[in-house]
Amino acid sequence: QMPTIKGNVTFDDVSFRYEEGKNILNDVSFHINAGESIALVGPTGAGKSTIINLLSRFYDVNEGCVKIDDIDVRDVTLKSLRSQMGVMLQDTFVFSGTILDNIRYGKLDATEDEIITAAKIVRAHDFIKDLKDGYHTVVEERGSTLSAGQRQLISFARALLANPKILILDEATSSIDTKTEELLQEGIAELLKGRTSFIIAHRLSTIKNSSQIFYVDGGRIAEKGTHEEL
Ligand code: ATP
Ligand code: MG
Repeated sequence: QMPTIKGNVTFDDVSFRYEEGKNILNDVSFHINAGESIALVGPTGAGKSTIINLLSRFYDVNEGCVKIDDIDVRDVTLKSLRSQMGVMLQDTFVFSGTILDNIRYGKLDATEDEIITAAKIVRAHDFIKDLKDGYHTVVEERGSTLSAGQRQLISFARALLANPKILILDEATSSIDTKTEELLQEGIAELLKGRTSFIIAHRLSTIKNSSQIFYVDGGRIAEKGTHEEL
């Protein structure tokens, strides 16, 4: 079991390879205080998603260790670790069911009022209320009836409801109109409050909203700094 965490994150000389052969991450070290928001940027194949895979323990490190507060992530159950972590991947997952079901996924006992409140906070409410049956509209698994931006807003509402201490977001790369982009930024700003977050950022507006930027290149954090510094 994992005790309730504050959300400090430490990587201590972490090296990692997916299979025998060359390291994908080399001696990555950093410490993040609870509540900070980190933007991960850098070229394709640099290792950004890999850093996040290790934090959420989709894989285990080969050398070094990953700690949350002072706990090695390998010393707690996956279930207790993930219960305090919200992971929003690029390809937002929507299953067939109503919008309500899709948002409730993070917290099965949430009431309709709680869901609507969460959706309002992350700016998802406006598009949902305009759907044919509002929150009761049935969406398909492929989510083809929803745009990429709308799916991401649903995942924000889902994450807010689950209320994790650590938030991980792999920002959608698909082209999004200016209006949706603004909504997403406002939603992200709300989501970040009071949490530690790691965002693989593709948009300058997201990078600007982060307290620190890690420039990842060739399996290392090549540079760290604020938006002004880099
Ligand atoms: P992108 O911006 O394209 O998402 P990234 O910075 O997230 O890139 P990673 O996905 O972390 O990059 O990949 C780092 C390296 O690890 C790449 O060389 C990639 O080919 C390799 N890699 C990623 N996932 C796996 C996997 N599951 N098995 C083997 N190699 C992998
Ligand atoms: Mg990636």
